[in-house]
Amino acid sequence: MKPIPYGRQTISQEDIDAVSTSLQSDYLTQGPTISAIQSAFSAYIGSQYAVAVSNGTAALHLSALALGLKPGQKVLTSSLTFVASANCVQYAGAEVDFVDIDPKSYLISLELLEAKLASVPKGTYAGIIPVDFAGLAVDLEKLKEIAVKYNCWILEDSCHSPGGYFIDSKGEKQNCGNGNYADLAIFSFHPVKHIATGEGGMICTNNKALYEKLMSLRSHGISRDETKFKNSIQEAGGNPGDLNYPAWYMEMQDLGYNYRLTDLQAALGLSQLKSAAKRLDKRKQIAETYYEAFKNEDFVCNLSPANPAHAYHLYVIQVSKRLELYNFLRSKNIFAQIHYFPCHLMPYYQEKGWKVGMLKNVEEYYKGCISLPMFPGLEEAEQQYVISSIKEFYQK
Ligand SMILES: *Cc1c(COP(=O)(O)O)cnc(C)c1O
Repeated sequence: MKPIPYGRQTISQEDIDAVSTSLQSDYLTQGPTISAIQSAFSAYIGSQYAVAVSNGTAALHLSALALGLKPGQKVLTSSLTFVASANCVQYAGAEVDFVDIDPKSYLISLELLEAKLASVPKGTYAGIIPVDFAGLAVDLEKLKEIAVKYNCWILEDSCHSPGGYFIDSKGEKQNCGNGNYADLAIFSFHPVKHIATGEGGMICTNNKALYEKLMSLRSHGISRDETKFKNSIQEAGGNPGDLNYPAWYMEMQDLGYNYRLTDLQAALGLSQLKSAAKRLDKRKQIAETYYEAFKNEDFVCNLSPANPAHAYHLYVIQVSKRLELYNFLRSKNIFAQIHYFPCHLMPYYQEKGWKVGMLKNVEEYYKGCISLPMFPGLEEAEQQYVISSIKEFYQK
């Protein structure tokens, strides 16, 4: 058996052709493919606007800045996430505060979150960053009620959940990242995610002002829109009496960054997007197969039936003897992974006062979690090999 990773990209001949075509065009960066992927992605997710950026971490950083996050403010997020969800708060000079997970869903506990908000003066927290962990949607309708009550913005980390959704109280399907409840939502196009561009990311929103702010921050805070220029036509180099700015003139109005996606990456992403629904179905099939294989096994606990609303970025099971199982699988060329070591126990955050014992649910979760291979290119025989190897381990 060749090595089986926990996740990897699927690249088709169409994807390769799309990148080749893009290489022969006039643009390597910021050409027409950027706006094309923004439109196609917002249509796929169901948001009004989308801003393509260089990666998911840049998406988080720009989002925090666009939302006006400042030193002295605090933001709540889950400790069960990739560190970038929390780090964006620190980038803005603000302070992240971690909330424990619900032990059944592994998502941020809305009860504990509200208790934290209620225990301090209103205004202490500027925002909340919920994470659709593994691909399961946070109930943003409920979260929004809490956010409104405490005057917090919501930045949804949807890196795991493109194509995932929840059903709201009106019975309507709400896609992860669609911006109906969250102010902003971010995605990553890292190779293990649903859509791969090498490095890449996207921010979705229904808020026009935030969209415009993000477009500016993505590229140095420079504006080319003469209706918004702050310097006068003469200051820009025009002659007295001119009604228009010189055509070359642009101006930097905010401190932005270079967080642009290239046209090559956008071409790959646009092509990947066309087959995203098919790959999502494959992920759901894989989840179904794992569930059927393990539902009657007592070495796996807290197993949920395959869920059509889940985007299955990860397939996490809870087991005993996790380290031994992990090493056994490695010896059989199966590279399972652990998601995640709790964020609050990373040395950087421990230096800020976080300690073992502070968030019991996520610490307990970490002891037994293991992510099984889950990617659209996983062949049936490979998945059966993974399943039989796990069973073999527990029968020893
Ligand atoms: C992958 C990921 C990120 C960061 O995305 P990059 O593109 O790697 O910067 C942020 N949050 C979560 C939950 C992720 O899985």
